[in-house]
Order: sequence, then C-alpha cells, then structure tokens
Amino acid sequence: MKILVFNCGSSSIKFKLFLMPQEDLLAEGLLERVGSEDAYASLKTPRGKTKKYQEISDYPAGFIVIKKMLLNPDNGAINSLSEINACGHRVVHGGESFGGSMPIDDELEQGIEAVFELAPLHNPPNLTGIQQARLMFGDIPQVACFDTAFHHSIPEVAYRYALPEKFYSEYQIRRYGFHGMSHQYVARQAAQMMGSHKYSVNLITCHLGNGSSVAAIRDGHSVDTSMGLTPLEGLVMGTRSGDLDPGILFYLNRKGYDTDSLDTLLNKQSGLLGVSGSSNDVRDLELKADGGDDRAALALNIFAYRIKKYIGAYMAVLNRVDAIVFTGGIGENGAAMRHRILSDMDQQGIVIDEMRNEVHAGVPGEIQGPTSRIRVMIIPTNEELAIARDTFKLTTKNTDKSGDKICQP
Ligand code: ADP
Repeated sequence: MKILVFNCGSSSIKFKLFLMPQEDLLAEGLLERVGSEDAYASLKTPRGKTKKYQEISDYPAGFIVIKKMLLNPDNGAINSLSEINACGHRVVHGGESFGGSMPIDDELEQGIEAVFELAPLHNPPNLTGIQQARLMFGDIPQVACFDTAFHHSIPEVAYRYALPEKFYSEYQIRRYGFHGMSHQYVARQAAQMMGSHKYSVNLITCHLGNGSSVAAIRDGHSVDTSMGLTPLEGLVMGTRSGDLDPGILFYLNRKGYDTDSLDTLLNKQSGLLGVSGSSNDVRDLELKADGGDDRAALALNIFAYRIKKYIGAYMAVLNRVDAIVFTGGIGENGAAMRHRILSDMDQQGIVIDEMRNEVHAGVPGEIQGPTSRIRVMIIPTNEELAIARDTFKLTTKNTDKSGDKICQP
C-alpha cells in the first residue's frame, strides 16, 4: 500500500510517499515559505527532481501544489490520488492523552487542539495539515504520530518538576519530551543491529540536529529525556539555550526584559549562535574554530560538554548501558563533535576508535574501539519512515504485532 507522510510546520510542509511494507521511498517533497510570494516547492522521485518558485498563499494552496506535483505525468509518483491508501502525520505534542500513534477522527483533532497551549508553534500547523489531508483524500485512514508518545513510559520521578502539586494537576506542567519518533526509531534499529530483542536493550540515544535531545532507554522504553514541558530544556541547540538557572529569567526581567523578549532570547538567539556570535551550524563553527575563532570553539565545547553531562547522568540512571547511539545531522555526520563528547570516558567504559569515527558518516555502523565496554553506534534517523510504519500497522491490522505503543482505533 502507498502511505503519504506529512510533517507540517508553520511555513513549511515536508512529505514523503512510501510503498509499504517494502519501505520503498517513492517520492519526497518540500514546500518552503508557505504564506509568501516567493515560496518554493520541490519534489524528488526516481524519475527526477523539480524545484519551482511560486506564490503559495496558505496551506490549502500548498496542498493543491503537492497534489499537482505528485500527479505530474513527467516526474510525479502516482497517476491518481486514489492510489494513496493512507496518510501519516507528525504531531509534535500529544499532551498526557496520547501515548501512541492514533487513527484520526474529529475527536482526535479536538485532542490535538486541546494541547495547542503546550506547543503553540507546532500543533496548530500540524492540525491544519491533518485537516487539509482529510479534505483532499476523503475517506482514507489518517494516523497521527506524536513526538511526545515514546516518552509516555517515563516514570513520575523523572517527569515531575519540583513544583507544588497544583502546577502539575491544573496546568499539566511536567516533562513530556520530544523527538520521540526519532528516539524510538534508532532504538529499534540499534537493537536489530545488536541482534537483541528490542525490549532487552539499555541505550542512551542522542538526537543531535538543530533541535537536540538525549533519551535514556531501559528495556526498549524511554525512562528519561532531556527536553521537558517544551523543547527548550536540556541540551544546547542551534539557537536554543537548553538548561539554565531559572533565576536568570527573574534577573533579566528586573532589568527590563519582558516575556516575549526572553522567549526570543532563549529560543532564537542563544545556543551555538548566541555563544559563537556567528552561526548555529556545527560545520561552520568547526571551520571557524580550526581557523582560531575562540568563540566558535567555546560554543562547540559547551555544546559537547552538556551532552557529556547528560550521558553521565543517564549512565547513572540506567546502571547498565549497552550502547550510546548518535543520530540527527550532527550526530550522524559530526565526527569532531562525537570526539569532543566521548573523549576521556574510558573509565566509564567508553572508548571510540578514532579512525572509524572519522570515516563514519551518514550510514549505520559502530565506532567503538576494542577496549570499549559500551558500543557507540551511528544510526541515521528516519522519522518519516517510523511514521509510515506506525500508519501501516494501524491501518492494516488494527493490532500491534510489534508490541510498540500503537493505540487501538
Ligand atoms: P533538524 O533538526 O533541522 O532536522 P538536522 O538533523 O538536519 O537538523 O541537523 C542539522 C545540523 O547538522 C546542522 O546544524 C549542521 O550543523 C549539522 N551537520 C550536518 N552535516 C554535518 C557535518 N558533516 N558535520 C557536522 N555537522 C553537520
């Protein structure tokens, strides 16, 4: 069957078409700057690539562009919309209600809307994408896959903040965690590569991209993760500060920074960009640091140090760690960054083989040295495929033979 996967952001729509269960990628596309006159739409299929600049005024217009591209007789991927059997949608926040992927109906849409406040930048466009897909494809099954769902197994001791009870019960302030589809995907792949059952492995998975998070996984289930109520907590990111002393906010507030300016500061002006003063891209910063730029070097070192601290913390949480897994643009490709993170951890049982680390990029593999007690794995993430797999399972059998958390319709 053909499954179309959507990842809808505030101004971009990413989509991939899979043939399942073969997991063949039939098409992938991207609409950028939706809502503007100089938007562009690109599509890649085995028959070729196209990229076209045009006005895409809003989401409905974007979905018409997607339809036209997919049906294009020259390099499209289908002859008729009826070839699409189901759609899967990435939804960033599932709140406390959704502990697994779910078939979409009107009630589920309301559930996504109910947590708009927890993810004001992400859930509204996610829902708009769902509504457009339901309009365009009519009666076919649609499935929502939540970034928070994999972390539903985190115990209360790890998900509660040390705030009075009412802030949890009335405002749902707790750790939710994100990047769940990615952490789950690489955890399953890691177990497979180790020849182990997916519910027998203890892992620390590091998703390092523009947004970054670490997860502690015991027996295949997430038991802690670095992102919290929002994706701002935890690691240093491209433009996000990650963890800091909350007292800094009161201090700055008294200096005249209001809520919006603090939000912008911590989400858009901090992290690698803020510390380096020049870039949020690890590749740029490595080049600058090599050329003697001290601020770039400091940004990279703070980024790596924070990850090292989380790895140490999660080793304590898990007690036994079978593998540390790197994924995301930086985790998969950034050899120098992996070196920074894992150097001087031999007493903890982690030793990387520098040669293997250097040459390894973008493909699954292991980079630990022969004396390492803990494996160090690189596994390219594929969140869209994870969504296609969940959508396939939910729409074909209505049961979860794999044992993963797929909710019943
Ligand atoms: P997103 O979170 O937006 O999906 P990605 O997972 O694509 O981001 O990661 C983007 C980051 O990956 C960029 O900031 C870039 O610094 C980093 N990156 C990509 N290729 C390399 C590389 N070869 N070496 C180091 N970092 C890289």
